[in-house]
Amino acid sequence: MKITFLGTGSMVPTIERNHSSILFNYNSENILVDCGEGTQKQLRKAKISPAKITRILITHWHGDHVLGIPGLLSTLRWSNYTKTLEIYGPKGTKKYFSNMMNGFDSHILPTLKVKLIEINKKLVFENKDFYVETLPVVHTKNCLAYNFIEKDKRRINLSYLKKFGLKNNPILKSLSQGKDIVYNGKKISAKKATILNKGRKLSIVLDTIFFPGLYKIAKNSDLFVCESTHLSREQKESNDYEHLTSEQAAITAKKAKVKKLILTHFSQRYKDVMPLEKEAKKIFKNTITAKDLMTINV
Ligand SMILES: [Zn+2]
Ligand SMILES: [Zn+2]
Repeated sequence: MKITFLGTGSMVPTIERNHSSILFNYNSENILVDCGEGTQKQLRKAKISPAKITRILITHWHGDHVLGIPGLLSTLRWSNYTKTLEIYGPKGTKKYFSNMMNGFDSHILPTLKVKLIEINKKLVFENKDFYVETLPVVHTKNCLAYNFIEKDKRRINLSYLKKFGLKNNPILKSLSQGKDIVYNGKKISAKKATILNKGRKLSIVLDTIFFPGLYKIAKNSDLFVCESTHLSREQKESNDYEHLTSEQAAITAKKAKVKKLILTHFSQRYKDVMPLEKEAKKIFKNTITAKDLMTINV
């Protein structure tokens, strides 16, 4: 799993920080989490063709997370994009999307295939490699956090299978699926004949207030990407606007026992985000701050 930060700012962009968007990549899947204004330009800077996007997951319909959608769709319409673009989001997504696309004389939608999915269950999407689940957070009427969870994989332990005289046999597929097999009258246990590669977990929490449900979302994540709009000295203001401080992000990371924390969604007031990183590190050491166009392997 790989992610690229396309925008790490919040409500107002700066020269260094675009509005919110994170690209998730796994094999042929390229999923945008949010699509703030200018996201398609950020994709160009990251040397990623917008036509590679397979899905968009929306956390919520605040402008800093969605205003890049019409521009991106317009580009796809003129780029021979033949796939169906799936856009997932919280309750209200269909209404907000149609209002936005009806705001101008658009030739986009009659040509481009777009499927809108209002999420009403925990499992959002699944393929053979990973699945995406969602949990609600507390910010505006409807706002979602997303977890990307890689499926566990079993690698065949060929040296163990030697004593059974077994190699390159279609029956090995059952073992890799975790099923015990019988070969030449002998039972072979999948547990012994395979090595388990535990799948990794990535949690993305953008705008939210601080509440206990966050620990559950980020629980045991290998990588926890979390909004950190303010320093704790602005906690009152942060809370009023339903955002987190870097201290609260770090407390969440610690309680959820994540491996690594990346802070993002910074207020434009911080020209230098090192104080936010320092504040978080006091509580959770393995913390870094995101930069636009930064890429991380999970
Ligand atoms: Zn935001
Ligand atoms: Zn918001």
